[in-house]
Amino acid sequence: MLLGGHISTSGGVSLSPERASVFGFRTFQIFSKNQMQWKSKPLDPNEIEKFQAEVKERSQHGIMVHASYLLNLGTSKRDLRAKVEAGFEEEIRRTDQLGISYLVIHPGSSFDSEPNIAIKNITEILNQAISEEQKCIILLENSAGQGNTVGRTFEELSEIIEGVEMKDRIGVCMDTCHAWAAGYDIKTEAGYNETMDHFNSIIGLNKLYGFHLNDSKNGKGDRLDRHEQIGKGRIGDEGFANFVNDKRLRSKSFVFETPLGEAGYSGDLDHLRKVLRSD
Ligand SMILES: [Zn+2]
Ligand SMILES: [Zn+2]
Repeated sequence: MLLGGHISTSGGVSLSPERASVFGFRTFQIFSKNQMQWKSKPLDPNEIEKFQAEVKERSQHGIMVHASYLLNLGTSKRDLRAKVEAGFEEEIRRTDQLGISYLVIHPGSSFDSEPNIAIKNITEILNQAISEEQKCIILLENSAGQGNTVGRTFEELSEIIEGVEMKDRIGVCMDTCHAWAAGYDIKTEAGYNETMDHFNSIIGLNKLYGFHLNDSKNGKGDRLDRHEQIGKGRIGDEGFANFVNDKRLRSKSFVFETPLGEAGYSGDLDHLRKVLRSD
């Protein structure tokens, strides 16, 4: 399977491929800028070149950029929307400059509007930002359903995707903790099969490009976004066995976003190895 984790870019983005390969990762995820700030310095051309060379040397692929947490595409506030549009376009540009396959974004929140208005706002911004020249695919991440977040259900994600004109530039990244928190039973084999069949009928597995692999501190349907190390939470080894042994998912990117970060990935890997069947 194509496995990785969220990797620090401290000291320069070009250092991340090697940090990822320490764990044997064939893919990974980064922030291309400070995820809590609007402003960013342009990427240094030397860093871009070095990053791409390091990635190529390691045959890493299916890499993800996670967009800034500040970007609420669902906003109805005019001044904020202008900032969000500019910020989102900047994220797309940086992802393409680095030659990275996927840009993962939380769809948004209906904090200052209504859910149906937020969905309309999200599709408008997506259509405005996505261009013919764009290389990366934008992946909408399913939400845990905490607060006013949009994208808790596959139906909501599908509604957004249906509104996007350039369908080959939009897809989904499924966060296992969020799916569980949203009420999808991915722990039992029967529940997992039902969830994936449901996803396939509503959105299509061909639109599912990657996963955030996280256990959950909370219970199924609690709508709380609290990640836990793999096997140490309520999804547990039993749940992750479903994902790692599903042959339909072999080409998809799997990325840990567990609380300990790079300090915890060895332990996370041990749990996956334990449940991986060799057939
Ligand atoms: Zn995630
Ligand atoms: Zn989360």
